[in-house]
Amino acid sequence: MNMLPVNPNRYRLPRMPLVGSGDGAGGLESAEGIAGFLTHQGCSSSCIYCSEADTRVSFRRIPDVISEISNCTAKGLRRFHLCDSEFNEDLDYSIYFLKALKEAGLRIDWALYLKPSNHNRTMFRLMQETGVSLITLTVDSWKKCPLYWGDIEKIVFSARSNGIKIIIDFLTGFPYEQEETLEFYLDLFRRLQPDSVEINTCIRLYRTLKITDIIARDPALLQHVIGNIEDPELLHPVFYSQLSAERLEEKLSKEPLFRIEGLKKNFAAAEPGGSGCPEGV
Ligand code: SF4
Repeated sequence: MNMLPVNPNRYRLPRMPLVGSGDGAGGLESAEGIAGFLTHQGCSSSCIYCSEADTRVSFRRIPDVISEISNCTAKGLRRFHLCDSEFNEDLDYSIYFLKALKEAGLRIDWALYLKPSNHNRTMFRLMQETGVSLITLTVDSWKKCPLYWGDIEKIVFSARSNGIKIIIDFLTGFPYEQEETLEFYLDLFRRLQPDSVEINTCIRLYRTLKITDIIARDPALLQHVIGNIEDPELLHPVFYSQLSAERLEEKLSKEPLFRIEGLKKNFAAAEPGGSGCPEGV
């Protein structure tokens, strides 16, 4: 069975232990847990707030990944979480992987992240057949085109029609963003009705990010910075937040579809002596 897509040279990550697999240090302590596995590292997208943007993409050999999952299932583990930033970096690879997982006959339950791009009906059907029970779709409101919105719509629809729960992880409140942009997205989500929309308005700033440069160059934006942006390393958490929780709550008027994430936690992390941002944004 040839499971490798067209360019095998792209698949160069070494075999690595599955989290909690007993295949490396630590070992499998309980078949009740959730194990993580990885199909690739890096991301070809260019999100201005993400430290993985435009990083080199390296895929793992599919038989290695399948064999690690198989080792876990042999020990009784059934629940898995994909540790890739986004599963659908490369549609060909995703489909080869899903076909291989299906052929392996491993009856697992797993969750993954998607970005609004590479997808098709075959991918969703195979996800359903291989036990995907939860998709988290990463969405942000920074300068997008209609193709992006179309992908969000198709992905939510495809997940639901295949019986897969879908949550949207929505980052908003970017520099120069107008109120209408937020309204547009909230209306889109209301119309699509995913299982939940988790909204984050605190953007963590790191020195290497494009968004940090944009904010640092414009004194008008600095009033929305929480923490010390003058710190050359930005090791202590610094956030950009121009949309207040109160304003957002007002707009959402307690609609159960929406959940406002991490505001208090993030503000606390940016205080002097704060412990850092656990949200990963
Ligand atoms: S947010 Fe997701 S899609 Fe965007 S660069 Fe980061 S990993 Fe890639």
